[in-house]
Amino acid sequence: MGPPSKEALHEPLRLGGTVVVSGLAFAACDRGVYGPLQRRERINGMDFSLNAEQARFRDELRAWLRDNLAGSAGRAAAPADAEEGGERRREWQRRVHEAGYAGVSWPVEYGGRGLSLIESMIVNEEMARAKAPDLVNVIGLNMAGPTIIHHGTPEQKSKHLRNILDATDIWCQGFSEPNSGSDLASLQTRAVPDGDDFVVNGQKVWTTLGHVAKWCILLTRTGSADEKHAGLTYLIVDMQSPGVQVKPLVQLTGDAEFNEIYFTDVRVPRSNLLGGVGEGWRVAMTTLMHERATLGVALQVRSRIAFDDLVTLVRAGGDGNPLLRQKLAQLHIETEAMRFNGYRGLTRMLRGEPPGPEGSINKLMWSEVNQRLMDTALEVLGPAALLAAGEESAPDGGRWSYQFLRSRANSIEGGTSEVLRNILAERVLGLPRSR
Ligand SMILES: Cc1cc2nc3c(=O)[nH]c(=O)nc-3n(C[C@H](O)[C@H](O)[C@H](O)COP(=O)(O)OP(=O)(O)OC[C@H]3O[C@@H](n4cnc5c(N)ncnc54)[C@H](O)[C@@H]3O)c2cc1C
Repeated sequence: MGPPSKEALHEPLRLGGTVVVSGLAFAACDRGVYGPLQRRERINGMDFSLNAEQARFRDELRAWLRDNLAGSAGRAAAPADAEEGGERRREWQRRVHEAGYAGVSWPVEYGGRGLSLIESMIVNEEMARAKAPDLVNVIGLNMAGPTIIHHGTPEQKSKHLRNILDATDIWCQGFSEPNSGSDLASLQTRAVPDGDDFVVNGQKVWTTLGHVAKWCILLTRTGSADEKHAGLTYLIVDMQSPGVQVKPLVQLTGDAEFNEIYFTDVRVPRSNLLGGVGEGWRVAMTTLMHERATLGVALQVRSRIAFDDLVTLVRAGGDGNPLLRQKLAQLHIETEAMRFNGYRGLTRMLRGEPPGPEGSINKLMWSEVNQRLMDTALEVLGPAALLAAGEESAPDGGRWSYQFLRSRANSIEGGTSEVLRNILAERVLGLPRSR
């Protein structure tokens, strides 16, 4: 039997007589976030085959992507766009939203379509398959929005959710601090109640999109340092408030995608409290669960696309190097393992169970597979890969070398590989705690 065709890898897959849909979805915190489940009676049998309505939804989306990706939108993913404030990428998200494909599983009253996880999965899959640009408001869509849907007041939902979907307001996530990353509960940015406000002082770091964001989901300390998790409070902060200072940090790629943010006597109205005072950790867990699941699950579809491109690159070079062939075979195996692991996570969620360890497993695997994939691409390209991204003479416009540099962050962002291994060792294997 020969290798599966590229098309076959994206087609519904049969496992022991049952059918699962290729591609993966956002994780769901609970069913409330993503609307009512459909066809639950068939899920116990692991049958994810699309019904007629879902197949129509997918076909309409495919046609829309075909019609809309050809023009300026296709260029929207260019790395340099980060320096232009992401205007082209905002425009792309506006168009996706107008067409009804942003937040398909969000409630209808807040601009979503109230559809199920299956439709979210279809959107992710088809967007990746068509190599559509990522939506610019990644933190709003994947973290802030779901957290507000889950924990927000009706006023907060009305005020923010639509503006997230159409990219009117870009969001950032102010969790990490210079001395608190993996050990997030040790954070020190203080919020002190004062009349109808909180007064915030402190520093955040690595804040993606902080330089263009209108709003920040900010994790602060209202209790004492000894209280650790119990002393945290979650706020929504207007980035244009007096006392907010943003300093961009330039990454290895040359992009300034993330920032340091300083808060000096920043007044935040109590109405911007998400959850209660001291409930910040619980609310933050909703955000982090969505972050990890999004990174680890949806992005594995992109790993499959990148892998296909790499195979094309190797075939074009006619390279019969046996070591290279083995590396590719190994990457293929691991990319497929991520896919099957994603199906396990999706099955669990469709059964209405809380998300399991699949998100952490896939985030860990994705970051390491993606890095090795990029290493292999550079090995194939040889010295030509040293040409900078964007140089015309660079192979593929320098895309591979850009992605190679960007992939270095994969094993840090959204939880480091060491920390994820600890989580899996303790919570899945039941090994003793490391400290
Ligand atoms: C591209 C990118 C974008 C990011 N965007 C954001 C953002 O928008 N908002 C935000 O809040 N944060 C963001 N981050 C920060 C990210 O969440 C942190 O970098 C990450 O959680 C690690 O924290 P740290 O950098 O403080 O490293 P540390 O926690 O100090 O870790 C340093 C090293 O020690 C290891 N280590 C730490 N604890 C343990 C342990 N218990 N056992 C074994 N090893 C351990 C780590 O694995 C790592 O190798 C971003 C990071 C990157 C790279």
